[in-house]
Amino acid sequence: MAGVMIGIEVHCQLNTESKLFCSNSNDMRNKKPNESVCPICLGYPGSKPVINKHAIELGMRIGLALDCKIADSMFFSRKTYFYPDMSKSYQITQYEVPLATEGYLTVGDTKIRIRRVHIEEDPAKLMHVGGDITNAEYVLIDYNRSGVALAEIVTEPDFTTPKQVHQFLDNLLSILEHLGVYDSSKEATLRCDANISLDGGERVEVKNITGFENVEKALNFEIIRQNGMKRMEVKVERETRHFDSDSNTTKSLRKKEYEEDYGYIFDPDLPVIKISKEWVSSIKKNMPELPDQRVKRFVKQYALDEYTASVLIYADKNLADFYEECCRNYNKPQTVANWMMNYLLKSLNWRSERIKNSKVRVGTFVELLTLIENGTITERYAKELIKEYVDTGISPKELMKKSSSGKIDLDAVVKKVLEENKKAVDEYRSGKQEALKFLLGRVLVATNKQADPKLINEALLKQLGASIAQ
Ligand SMILES: [Zn+2]
Repeated sequence: MAGVMIGIEVHCQLNTESKLFCSNSNDMRNKKPNESVCPICLGYPGSKPVINKHAIELGMRIGLALDCKIADSMFFSRKTYFYPDMSKSYQITQYEVPLATEGYLTVGDTKIRIRRVHIEEDPAKLMHVGGDITNAEYVLIDYNRSGVALAEIVTEPDFTTPKQVHQFLDNLLSILEHLGVYDSSKEATLRCDANISLDGGERVEVKNITGFENVEKALNFEIIRQNGMKRMEVKVERETRHFDSDSNTTKSLRKKEYEEDYGYIFDPDLPVIKISKEWVSSIKKNMPELPDQRVKRFVKQYALDEYTASVLIYADKNLADFYEECCRNYNKPQTVANWMMNYLLKSLNWRSERIKNSKVRVGTFVELLTLIENGTITERYAKELIKEYVDTGISPKELMKKSSSGKIDLDAVVKKVLEENKKAVDEYRSGKQEALKFLLGRVLVATNKQADPKLINEALLKQLGASIAQ
């Protein structure tokens, strides 16, 4: 893929209590459309925005985690455009002097430079009814999202493959979650714009893609599309496109658009904010543990291999939190990790569930591990049980009671198998060891392979021995 240049912009809804310039809630759970609004975020004439300090601080955390320089002072500008998602006909954002600049994030061996991190307000949410943005019958507007605090993270065009972009986004998401600046369980979103050019040609921007898989798909499609145009000697024009996740293709939205076209002006309603060294160092001092540091700590503290630690941490911050909570209650870190990696994660993935929204709890999960450890249940049975446990959240002990009617009475099964296979029993007694294997196989089949072969063997020997003694 020689000559592919990709840069991205990520919009992260910040985990603040209130919106960027008013006191309406940022939490969109269980909200009716247009319920969380006020004259400020609806852009009524005469309303005055007031800056949410916490949003600036969360933005500083992101800047510091990405090794950026934090500006000495910052101010907000108005980006003027007319669109139904923007009631004031301008968006309050940062243009001339962003909060943070010149950082980087490493993906594999590649250093991806971060051009800037700035704070801005989210526009309202548009719902395209009866189609998508290019062909909807009509549009509904939800101003709940209007004025929500966003951090925009902009990279240099340092990516050469769509896969790299995907990995970068996975890493970035984990960092944002560890920083506590982003919480997807509050229905916050990460949205991505990607620009891509081939062999120094014009760059095409694909706007507003949700889902990291979709970002990768959109970029792969663009590479194929732009290469096809080149083969047919059609010039690629600078344009903005939209990704259609139904067809996995991109469609043209508008031609030629430059940042300068927006006519940014300084927002006279908002003051210039001085950012003192003391302020920055107090943020630095209280920085949460970052995923890379956490991987190193897991390797040291729990003696995990680096791969396992990375999966637990980068898959989902809550999964890593769950792991640590389990280890506090059950002091066998390797066993906890094995059961999480091999069985719990699989069951969750199969249900497309994340641990935080699942019915899995530390107490009941540890209970399962304890049942295995003290021999109450076999590992084989536990592997079956864990699926039902993830489905229902019912404690493993309760599940065992519930299924005890269906539970295997091994002695009874063995007795029946011995009665039905008198010939094999005689053969065994005449010294043919093969016959024991045959009987074990019959019992295993009779229990639907639920019983532990070791236990079957014991039960068989016991009953065969008992019959000899008679
Ligand atoms: Zn408001």
